[in-house]
Amino acid sequence: NNQWLLKKRPEGDIKADDFEYVQSEVPDLGEGEARVRTLYLSVDPTNRIWMTDMPQYMEPVQIGAVMRGVVIGVVEESKSPQLEVGDLIHGLWGWQEYAVVTPDQVGKVPKGVPVPLDAWMSVLGATGMTAYFGLRDIGKPKAGETIVISAAAGAVGSIAGQIAKIHGCRTVGIAGTDEKCAWLTDELGFDAAINYKTQDVDSALREACPNGIDIDFENVGGAIFDSVLSQINLHARIILCGLISSYNATKPVPGPYHFAQILMQRAKVEGFIITDYMSRFPEGIAEVGPWLASGKIKYRVDVVEGLEHTPEALNRLFTGANIGKQLVMVSEP
Ligand code: NDP
Repeated sequence: NNQWLLKKRPEGDIKADDFEYVQSEVPDLGEGEARVRTLYLSVDPTNRIWMTDMPQYMEPVQIGAVMRGVVIGVVEESKSPQLEVGDLIHGLWGWQEYAVVTPDQVGKVPKGVPVPLDAWMSVLGATGMTAYFGLRDIGKPKAGETIVISAAAGAVGSIAGQIAKIHGCRTVGIAGTDEKCAWLTDELGFDAAINYKTQDVDSALREACPNGIDIDFENVGGAIFDSVLSQINLHARIILCGLISSYNATKPVPGPYHFAQILMQRAKVEGFIITDYMSRFPEGIAEVGPWLASGKIKYRVDVVEGLEHTPEALNRLFTGANIGKQLVMVSEP
């Protein structure tokens, strides 16, 4: 069984030797256990947080442990009445080809729903649900309002923008390449997209948001967040979903320069973590599923093949190489 273990806590950018690739025996099954073969592994910016021991919303991954990750796999052997051979299940067994699991550690992929497996790892999985619940519960979008979304061509941002369009918002995305910006406006229906690497974000935002900004779906933090804050409207809502620009920081990161705008505009900033919403996924899937089926929402996955390439796949999120949801295909479905 090939596995990636966390070897040390990263400093700055993630490096190959922060992990160790090892082979081990898959343990024999005890009563109530099942053996699962991993199909897709999701790499997520939050993996970088789990690698550290900073205060966080879950236990940090221990040094020497299998690296944690959201995975989907197929049951190949079972001594549990609740898990049948052939069942597709998802869980957090992480960066390994095979794992032994118990029913309480995993969820089942609904049977008979005609969507590809990768949809459960993207638009109908944690990142799609982050977009849906973050926007719904904190953003509270109203038709005619303007929303800005950072990391807009990524897994969360690309879905959040399309849902905002369904709600009738003027939707502006910020992303790191012209190709990503073109995808947002030409394929996904964003009203405007800003390349933060080649454009002046302050003036581009002013042009793209002539009526100011009512909602910020914040995935990035840092200078981009600051520009957005400087242009928020009265009673703006800020969905604080992620701060990827600071995850690799080696020094404390200062707060936004335009912090005072939160006071002046009586804005609401709310942190959001999708793990609080696990029990509500069926509700989110019931809403997003039909949008997907009718073509109102499109999704894209960016697949790296082979468990051995997982650290590189994770790093793509930090270099911006990915478009849409970054996955690793560990074995053929
Ligand atoms: P993405 O698919 O959006 O990938 C990350 C993207 O972030 C990259 O493609 C890159 O795009 C952009 N990026 C990376 N570094 C920087 C930087 N320094 N400045 C600006 N942009 C950068 O990942 P996800 O959709 O999975 O996650 C997006 C955000 O949402 C992250 O902050 C993540 O932590 C957060 N998140 C939060 C959840 C929650 O429950 N709160 C759940 C899931 C995700 P580009 O080319 O545009 O730079």
